[in-house]
Amino acid sequence: MAAFVVAGIITFGPGTEGFKNITTASAPEKYVEYVEKQPGADEFKTEMLRAKLGFLVEKFSPHIIDYLMMGDKAANKNNKGMPNQPIITGFDKIGIDNKAISELWSKKYYPAGAIEGNIASVEYLGNRAGNVADYNIGGEAAASARDFSDIIQFHDDGLRVGSKKELKDKIENLDWHFTHELGHNTDWVNQNTLTPVERAEFLHDIAKAFEKPGSFRDSMGYIDSINNPDKHKENYYKVREYWASLCEQYLSFPELSRDYLSKDEVGLIKKWLEREDKEFNPIKAEKEKKLLIEALVEKGLRK
Ligand SMILES: [Zn+2]
Repeated sequence: MAAFVVAGIITFGPGTEGFKNITTASAPEKYVEYVEKQPGADEFKTEMLRAKLGFLVEKFSPHIIDYLMMGDKAANKNNKGMPNQPIITGFDKIGIDNKAISELWSKKYYPAGAIEGNIASVEYLGNRAGNVADYNIGGEAAASARDFSDIIQFHDDGLRVGSKKELKDKIENLDWHFTHELGHNTDWVNQNTLTPVERAEFLHDIAKAFEKPGSFRDSMGYIDSINNPDKHKENYYKVREYWASLCEQYLSFPELSRDYLSKDEVGLIKKWLEREDKEFNPIKAEKEKKLLIEALVEKGLRK
């Protein structure tokens, strides 16, 4: 894709290895029982849920049942006392004001409910991140998001921050990675405000869309390069990265989305990423963000 400016490390942070660590495997009925204990459960929804859970178990193994339940429990816990704005730290290591980054990654430029109450902190670690063994791909992660933690971490991406031009490229690159990690943070196990029924429906929607011929793939072949001897795991990792890549494409390159994303895929983004924000306009947000980055670059170099 021509719009991509790539330098240094190009792999996006998979980071999350939660699914790999799930050792228990339960029947869909266990999830149904879990849902029935929650307020607002009804019989019609439960029947729909059973069919969807059956599909998820077939694609991803019975571990998926326990994983979704664990995600729901973690989200309920994390949802309490979350800051309205993520705590931003460590960007001063590369000469970027943490407050400037805080302005950029605010709900002003992102769909409501994606950042506030959902991302606790963003840290610039600046270390070299290893690749994720379970994905069996080369390269290093530039950023990562861990399941159930609400934390996004950035690693050394190889880009220098010297000149004004380099600073601008760096912030744009950070923001591009952020849109991918935001995708992970808003997915079926990590979005804090979903009900357990919605979690199953969300993953079902994305797994079905992924299977459709011609469904979106990132320009670097990242999704398709993921492989694992355990095909259930491989399926899961691909679907997880598919969702993060959809969010990345939609938020970072909104003008190109109509060429690269199908109507159904945009519909799923509206349904899930913008579920609390029907007015969100990614093209307008991207334009405003570009202006903010320019202003930040000017300010940043004067201090
Ligand atoms: Zn990812």
